[in-house]
Amino acid sequence: MALRGEGIHLLAPTVPLYVMQASAPGPTALIQAGIHGDEIAGVHALQELLEESLRPAAGRLLVVPVMNPGAYRARQRAEPGGLDLNRAFPGDATAERYEPRLAAAFMALVEEERPALVATLHESKKRYDPSVTPSFGQTLVYGVEPCPVVLQRVVDELNEARRSDEERWATLYYPVATSSTEVIVDAIGCVGTCVETWMGFPEQRRVQMHKQVVKRLLAAVGVLD
Ligand SMILES: [Zn+2]
Repeated sequence: MALRGEGIHLLAPTVPLYVMQASAPGPTALIQAGIHGDEIAGVHALQELLEESLRPAAGRLLVVPVMNPGAYRARQRAEPGGLDLNRAFPGDATAERYEPRLAAAFMALVEEERPALVATLHESKKRYDPSVTPSFGQTLVYGVEPCPVVLQRVVDELNEARRSDEERWATLYYPVATSSTEVIVDAIGCVGTCVETWMGFPEQRRVQMHKQVVKRLLAAVGVLD
């Protein structure tokens, strides 16, 4: 099957997928946010990066800024009355419910594109503490061991650039069987991560942090310089 061309495609009526193709060959990266509707910093980070004309230097960059519009509008984890989209993978294209159908559309995209990197942007009310499970803010979570080398490298870079010790990042192994990240990594063997900022920081700072993480992840896999 031919890959989708440069431009905006719809995974669902209000779920745009932005496809950007560099002239130089390279890997494909797929970045997605808003799978949980109350975790808004990643959504706004991807929208701002698109407004700032983020483009791949090599390969392909695929961006889905708002994966779950109904949940985002409600500022709730799931759409009111709906399912947790991040527990609905790999989904079912024939399901009556919206979430398994959308998950299946996303999996079809992943199977076609075989991205080298899939990142999903989240936020966490709980600050990361290795002695508290679960706690995520702020971590690069992976669900299939071992920890991908690029994730540790990005965490090291983020910690070098952090404004204060409060902003420290860590990698975190936390498998969730039906989450987008783990199902996708199992299916195609890419680098997969769930990026979690801590909601205790001001919204603008969280948006900045997500933008930095996205740029560093894209650079680490060779899609950005
Ligand atoms: Zn989440």
